Amino acid sequence: MSTRVPLAIPNIGQTEADLVADAMRSGFVSSVGEYVTEFERRFAEYVGAPYAVACSSGTAALHLGMRLADVQPGDLVAVSDFTFMASSNAASYQFADLLLVDSKPDSWGMDLDILRTELLRRRSAGEKLPKVIELVHILGQPADAHGAREIADEFGAVLIEDAAEALGATWSDGPLAGRHVGTVGHMAAFSFNGNKIMTTGGGGMFTTDDEELARRAKHLSTQARMPERGYLHNEIGYNYRLTNIAAALGVAQLSRMDEFVARKRSIAARYNDAFAGTPITCPPGMPGEESTYWLYSILVPSAEPGTETRDNLQDFLGAADIESRPLWRPLHMQPPLAKEQVLGGAVGEELFARGLSLPCSTDLSDADQQRVIERVLAWLQTR
Ligand SMILES: *Cc1c(COP(=O)(O)O)cnc(C)c1O
Repeated sequence: MSTRVPLAIPNIGQTEADLVADAMRSGFVSSVGEYVTEFERRFAEYVGAPYAVACSSGTAALHLGMRLADVQPGDLVAVSDFTFMASSNAASYQFADLLLVDSKPDSWGMDLDILRTELLRRRSAGEKLPKVIELVHILGQPADAHGAREIADEFGAVLIEDAAEALGATWSDGPLAGRHVGTVGHMAAFSFNGNKIMTTGGGGMFTTDDEELARRAKHLSTQARMPERGYLHNEIGYNYRLTNIAAALGVAQLSRMDEFVARKRSIAARYNDAFAGTPITCPPGMPGEESTYWLYSILVPSAEPGTETRDNLQDFLGAADIESRPLWRPLHMQPPLAKEQVLGGAVGEELFARGLSLPCSTDLSDADQQRVIERVLAWLQTR
């Protein structure tokens, strides 16, 4: 009997159970406790960021970044158009205007050429320039952070990396060789939501190389409460801290990151082999960019316009108890963002129309992956 193959579920073992139990026994269950500081220290070390501040979610970490970049109502934030809506929500919370930047077809990451062309045009027309460029590393694939940092520096913008989906991804060649994603911008955000490569149940991390930004991030995330006796708050803050219980889970999961990354890559390699020579497009694996293939995602052949073919494959897999999920609807197609400026948009629309994520949990068995592969190949035969 075959069981359901889920898309991406957490991989929780004994270490996780032990550390969470220890955190509960300690009595420090909330946002103060040794595991929070331990998690921040180890996380900073893992990605090679000087400072890390644990947050209640990746979205919270991104929002802190927008606050710290002093994004005010009406300020412009340039953000990748092809992403999960949390990326832009963080800017919308500050009532920013958005500049939605399409992806490049090869890497699926932000197209910096159309961004730079627009910024040059805006500068010579005396129009508003972005206060923040938010670069999203989608699906575990590093985006061109070096190029984005150059543009940010050229136009006086703050670069925030949305690395929510790409913990563990690195560059192996080029100007960023040896670096992890999330260490190139002025600030970065990671997510530990349940479906991400590692989880704390729900949580996130804010990282930066600037001591003052780190100090302020922690301050804002704890209701901007001052050390003085008697509840003094010097600005409007948030309750964005991670709990000690969640941080204990984070410490345990982080210690297994090498295992998780290796497994994601071997799952991707096996799918890539199986789909080579078929009309399926495999996810980008750009030279010098070491993707973690967080959600292994393919593009179906574009026989019909629109999402029909992709829906058809999703239904075909679903009928065999295999879970899959369409890639994101680009931000410019989201109703609340209908009035925002978009640069391009056709690439994101095509990724949405044709993109489907396949099962890739780190504990996916070889037999289950074989089932997925055979089902996809069988679907191709029906075309
Ligand atoms: C998951 C995700 C986030 C938000 O993380 P949460 O922890 O769920 O708030 C932000 N950006 C992207 C691109 C994501 O995939």
